[in-house]
Amino acid sequence: MYKSTCDLCGNDNYKILGKVKDNFLVKCMLCGHIYMLYRFNNKELFKVYDEDYFKEKYIKGNEKVDYDYLKDKPNILEFVKKRFNTIHKYKNPGTILDIGCAMGFYLEYAQNFGWDIYGVEISQYAADYARQLLNTKNIFNGTIENIEFEDEKFDVITMWLVLEHMVKPVDILLKIRKWLKHDGIIGIKVPNADGITFRSNLNKWIGQHPEDHMCDFTPDTLERIMNKCGYEMLEVETEGIYLDRFTTKEKFIHSKNVSNFYYDITKECNLGDSMVAFFKLNL
Ligand SMILES: [Zn+2]
Repeated sequence: MYKSTCDLCGNDNYKILGKVKDNFLVKCMLCGHIYMLYRFNNKELFKVYDEDYFKEKYIKGNEKVDYDYLKDKPNILEFVKKRFNTIHKYKNPGTILDIGCAMGFYLEYAQNFGWDIYGVEISQYAADYARQLLNTKNIFNGTIENIEFEDEKFDVITMWLVLEHMVKPVDILLKIRKWLKHDGIIGIKVPNADGITFRSNLNKWIGQHPEDHMCDFTPDTLERIMNKCGYEMLEVETEGIYLDRFTTKEKFIHSKNVSNFYYDITKECNLGDSMVAFFKLNL
């Protein structure tokens, strides 16, 4: 691992918010961006996203569920539908690239609507699964650093719960910018470090912080890092609650009613623990 400077402003002036395993979650004193001080190199990254990431590690990472990514498909499809409702507000089916496409559930939905689909996935296991599910060769196993597409190929690029994993998010955002058509859009979902859990229970947020989340964005810092890379925000909304991080009460965590109640309230107050944002190119 190596030490990083602030992704947003490039400075090395931070205060430590807490310890995450052998790493530190820090906040930049100059711009307020929250990030992990030490970053994985590429070889370490491939070890993180093995088959187990979608199985045992997935179960451990979600206290609410006792099943793996594959069995979580019905829940994931709820989010898929919401995401495409927004995409179809801006775009008719064209060419779409899903970065971090996992086992291809988002692309499967897109394919059924007539989108020409492409995916990039770091996990060999998930990429193989997606390729078979979607009956396409257009799922590339690797990282953005070692993949090339022609300029202005895509109408839409999506990254659902992916940007926070990027070791060098600015480099990635600058690289993929060229792949978007001039009137293309990019959809991003990341955890929200300005939501109800971060605000009310920072210690628990840090205690359960995945070691492979390199940045904790707020709506403000996400917009600023996107502006820096040449994108302009179209919309942002927060959603959901990490109930297992917000409360320790078991009966709450496993209650669908409580979970739905908090989901609606946090959405209404814009305090959700995740956020979904869409951007266009700033030409
Ligand atoms: Zn900074």
